[in-house]
Amino acid sequence: MAPLFHLLFPILLPLFPTLTTAWTDLSDETLARLPNPSDTDFDITTGALLSPILIPRVPGTEGSLKVLNHFQNFFATKLPYWKTSTQNSTATTPTSNGAEIPFVNFYATRDPPWAGEGNVGRLVLVAHYDSKSTPEGFIGATDSAVPCAVLMHAAQAVDEALTRKWENMRVKGLAGDGLGDGDGHEDAYRGVMILFLDGEEAFHSWTNEDSLYGARSLANTWESTPHTALSQRKNHLSSIDLFLLLDLLGSKSPTIPSYFPTTHWAYTHMATLESRLRQLNHFLSHKTSPNPWFFEPATKEEKHSMMIQDDHIPFLARGVEVLHVIPAPFPRVWHVMEDDGEHLDMPTVKDWARLTAAFLAGWLGLEGFVEASLPVANGGAEEAEDVTSGAVRGRGLRLKTEL
Ligand SMILES: [Zn+2]
Repeated sequence: MAPLFHLLFPILLPLFPTLTTAWTDLSDETLARLPNPSDTDFDITTGALLSPILIPRVPGTEGSLKVLNHFQNFFATKLPYWKTSTQNSTATTPTSNGAEIPFVNFYATRDPPWAGEGNVGRLVLVAHYDSKSTPEGFIGATDSAVPCAVLMHAAQAVDEALTRKWENMRVKGLAGDGLGDGDGHEDAYRGVMILFLDGEEAFHSWTNEDSLYGARSLANTWESTPHTALSQRKNHLSSIDLFLLLDLLGSKSPTIPSYFPTTHWAYTHMATLESRLRQLNHFLSHKTSPNPWFFEPATKEEKHSMMIQDDHIPFLARGVEVLHVIPAPFPRVWHVMEDDGEHLDMPTVKDWARLTAAFLAGWLGLEGFVEASLPVANGGAEEAEDVTSGAVRGRGLRLKTEL
């Protein structure tokens, strides 16, 4: 992450109109049914999601490759309906002595099976996975290993409900005509992407050239990759309905300002979900971190003069809508050796995972499709009791069109 600096706002206005306001409120029951972020996933030495990322992962090094393989294996084994891709670039850096350093962005996408790629609008959940090259051995637990693991959890938390919802839509003939969201079936063209960016950190000191290597390359590539003629969305960049960037999360008691008036509506959904999860006692950090993280729940059109340099910048500059979830002030451990697993506040880490999963479920309209977790004794083989109306039964259900 980069230092703060000040600009007059607004600097850039969105070029793409917001085509849909994607949101469905979730019931208390659905919030309760979303899976618990567990030590199995988040323990700093053995957690399946988090622990493999808690290593130095400077671009072009073995650690970086290991983390990429971790992402690839996760989606291949746990979330096989997600389509994974990488986008590669190289650049020299102030410390590479003329050598080209490789940068690899990883992304995983799940779209409605009937929708052509150029007709889908996505919530893109973003974190950077590279770690800063100095000080030597720097882990970057909040920066941004935890955000990466949180996004993996969120994808996993909604996956089965999404399968159920889309199968239900197909059966009921609500899948639209496949031609896009102008036909009154906006919900049928809503997808999700998890995006892990490389090369966010500067190698020497932060400048426009020495930072955001992966994000700059990707925004440029996506802008110049058009969809087929007659697509609703012009290019890969205009498929992004909201660029939700998480950074510097995992320390106790963060405060997250609302940075952008045009996405304050999404910020407000975050704030509301946070306060409901607290009230319903689903937050673990409730006692240690009692103040709201999203502290501006009222409509706020006041302009923020603070601008933080981060991976959203190349996208924002091209008119993409951004919700930036980053604390101000930054965590105390920012860019020092103490930003490691031992200094994380684990209740806060797990609460971020739960909150992000809830936001994703609200965005994707999963009310009525999240089933209660099965007791382990059932081995996952039996059906959960389905008390929701309209939900398709059966955890083993798969979309025929995706096989
Ligand atoms: Zn950083």
